[in-house]
Amino acid sequence: MNPVIIKFWGVRGSIPTPGPRTLRYGGNTACVEITFPDTPRFIIDAGSGIRELGKELLSIQQPVEAYIFLSHFHWDHIQGLPFFKPAFEPGNKFIIFGCDEPNVPLDQIISIQMNPIYFPVAIEDMRSEIEFRTIAEENFNLNGVNVQTKYLNHPGYTLGFRFQYDHKSIVYLSDNEPFLQNQIVHRLPKHREESLESRFETFVEDKEKELIEFLANADVLIHDAQYFPDEYKKRIRWGHSPYTYAVDLAVKGKVKELILFHHDPDHDDETVDKIEQLSQERLRQADYPIKCSAAREGMEIEI
Ligand SMILES: [Zn+2]
Ligand SMILES: [Zn+2]
Repeated sequence: MNPVIIKFWGVRGSIPTPGPRTLRYGGNTACVEITFPDTPRFIIDAGSGIRELGKELLSIQQPVEAYIFLSHFHWDHIQGLPFFKPAFEPGNKFIIFGCDEPNVPLDQIISIQMNPIYFPVAIEDMRSEIEFRTIAEENFNLNGVNVQTKYLNHPGYTLGFRFQYDHKSIVYLSDNEPFLQNQIVHRLPKHREESLESRFETFVEDKEKELIEFLANADVLIHDAQYFPDEYKKRIRWGHSPYTYAVDLAVKGKVKELILFHHDPDHDDETVDKIEQLSQERLRQADYPIKCSAAREGMEIEI
């Protein structure tokens, strides 16, 4: 049986961070390639990492066919698309999956970033065949790969993905934050405050339960681990997680391997090492010592 191969082309969150401080983990923003046997390639997110992937695809000198899944449209997840050379070559074929924003359909969201105000080349210059497919929270089959999507806790509409092929599953939750605890409820009489608070707690528990079901038993969970817990406290509602949350989800969902993703642009290689080490320690403390590593550009995982 042919293996499923995951390759990381961009692992950084927010903004590309080239330079000597990020040499080992890499400075390109989110892009992950998954190769399933006998299907076009799956590309998850089109951050600056997709540019290098594009160069490699052209070097193979065969027509390129791929599914591109966009989790959401923050710059670090789409900024590489205008630099993805295979999209400009006739004979190549891409299907881009992503959600619509209110009043802005997917194809417009993508073409806006290539408007001449922002970029010199128009989307019409992409001579490959490009189809846009709007998705929401759903479950569908693509050439033998089951794709399941879930809205995450991140500003704007953001999808998480679960890909399942022949009992092998990969879950990608790039930009995701814990559902808020201890929410302060303003301007309500005391008794209403209490009932709302308890309703909110139930809501939080339900949401968390759904997320754990979504990622449960995955062979590989790729999750946002941008912060240390004390950094997170200062950035609540920015849409990202402390590594402790990623580890706790992995434990609760009994996943087989955890990949820490979306590294903070201010974290140098040594800081990412530290997050990796503390995550491994937390897994050991939970008596669940699975394989856990910080995503690194060029890293490949075979399952
Ligand atoms: Zn991001
Ligand atoms: Zn984002």
